[in-house]
Amino acid sequence: MRILVTGGAGYIGSVSVERLLAAGHAVWVLDDTSTGHAAAVPPEVRFSRSTYADENQVTRLLVDNAIEAILHCAARSLVGESIRNPSIYYRANVVGGVALLEAARRAGVERFVFSSTAAVYGVPVASPITELAPLDPINPYGETKRTFEGALRWYGTAYGLRSIALRYFNVAGASERNGEDHDPETHLVPTIIGALVSSLPMTLFGGDYPTPDGTPIRDYIHVEDLADAHLLALEATSEPIQPGVEAAVPLNLGTGTGFSVREVLAAAEKVVGKPVPHTIGPRRAGDPPILVASAERAREVLGWTPRRGSLTEMIGSAWQWRQTHPGGYDQA
Ligand code: UDP
Repeated sequence: MRILVTGGAGYIGSVSVERLLAAGHAVWVLDDTSTGHAAAVPPEVRFSRSTYADENQVTRLLVDNAIEAILHCAARSLVGESIRNPSIYYRANVVGGVALLEAARRAGVERFVFSSTAAVYGVPVASPITELAPLDPINPYGETKRTFEGALRWYGTAYGLRSIALRYFNVAGASERNGEDHDPETHLVPTIIGALVSSLPMTLFGGDYPTPDGTPIRDYIHVEDLADAHLLALEATSEPIQPGVEAAVPLNLGTGTGFSVREVLAAAEKVVGKPVPHTIGPRRAGDPPILVASAERAREVLGWTPRRGSLTEMIGSAWQWRQTHPGGYDQA
């Protein structure tokens, strides 16, 4: 298959590109490197360092290279930033996203896989969360992802676009080649690793949640398992995904198991063999107490099973990547 990956220089996009190449697909990457890293794109991949939001340019790219499917990973994805500055999120995730859909329509590309998020659910009413749970995002990040999912549905009904929206839970870990390198870093596992490397204490955002140890529970999934799901999802769009049901299918990607922040800290201490310096601070705005996926539908529709579900594998691979890339991509 000839596949365009937007955001292919980012954390999840770059590991997915590795997986697609390993499966024998031809890959093009479109990434403006505003948050991604050119060094994350392997040399054998054709790489355009520009935006997915330029409809004319993207249409040309799709037509000239006879692209058959799009994996849309590029987005703005920080909750706090989205609350402070929703304009960036609507422009990039909605306006830019629709420009990409229009380019796909003009070029006749009918297969589309989208990086969505558990943030579309907001504060869940029941756990584990199934795809039938109400969508009620509590920040512009989740809202813009939900809006784009809606566009996929209506483009499916009207224009025959076949799409899968993958709703990621908490992604962690690294491949041998690619890992997490954000500035600023806000995610738990790389923040723990940063504290272990620097010996400067990190902050646990709240110790008074209604959970057994008082810290929030999340469903962590290895980035390589996520990449496997992207490959399967792209392959599944070759024909109507669930005939007679819908042209756009949302699927949760998690393991179905929750771990508290303290459990993640304990696992990191075991992997690295030293204590994680930390303090307990106030809760972070917008953090629900528990987010755990039901991943049954992804199993049924894609035949996908996470194979690297232990915290040891996720943290171990992230730690390993940090050893080989002490300064991230730019100073590796
Ligand atoms: N967290 C924390 N300290 C940090 C970063 C994260 O206590 O420096 C907690 C956060 O409150 C949440 C969990 O770790 O309960 C996962 O947060 P992350 O930002 O990795 O992912 P999110 O769940 O927000 O998508």
